[in-house]
Amino acid sequence: MSDFGKPALADLIRTIPDYPKAGIQFRDVTTLIADPVGLRTAVDGLLWPYLREPVDVVVGIEARGFILGGAVAHELGRGFVPIRKKGKLPGKTIGQDYTLEYGVDTIEIHADAIAPGQRVLVIDDLIATGGTAIAATELLRRSGASVVGAAFVVDLPDLGGSQKLREKSVVVHTLVSFAGD
Ligand code: AMP
Repeated sequence: MSDFGKPALADLIRTIPDYPKAGIQFRDVTTLIADPVGLRTAVDGLLWPYLREPVDVVVGIEARGFILGGAVAHELGRGFVPIRKKGKLPGKTIGQDYTLEYGVDTIEIHADAIAPGQRVLVIDDLIATGGTAIAATELLRRSGASVVGAAFVVDLPDLGGSQKLREKSVVVHTLVSFAGD
């Protein structure tokens, strides 16, 4: 037994109403990752299933997926590959259009970042409609990867993204759920 109270991850995530536009409840994980217990608990929570699964490389989605995915890759002893917004990667890229909860965008990966057959774990902070994660999965599969899983700190299950990703045969792992959008 410990005399220290461990904060719940959900309590460390700040909600900002009407950001970036009216009606969106923005689930801000910067308050969670600024907290030493929060960051370590989140990273451990994301990676533990993959201590027993073969993962060759960790992919993080810009931008908060870089922070969490980089830490997960380090802890798993694997390399890290970024998926970025259009125009940010310097080398030859392949891209995929996707619909965000609040807009339309394109994500890209370096064309040579993934070797055919590599087993990839995808990390992001949050899954909402699933548009980003599904586009990342398509991009990775076009790169020849096998997507062994996708892990997120926050799930917004009412928006259906985690379910849609599962329907694409991706094993989904999430730590905290918030009702509504
Ligand atoms: P989606 O493609 O709809 O699953 O949206 C997921 C991406 O958009 C993630 O990279 C999130 O960081 C961001 N995002 C979408 N909705 C929210 C929200 N309500 N709060 C915080 N981030 C969000």
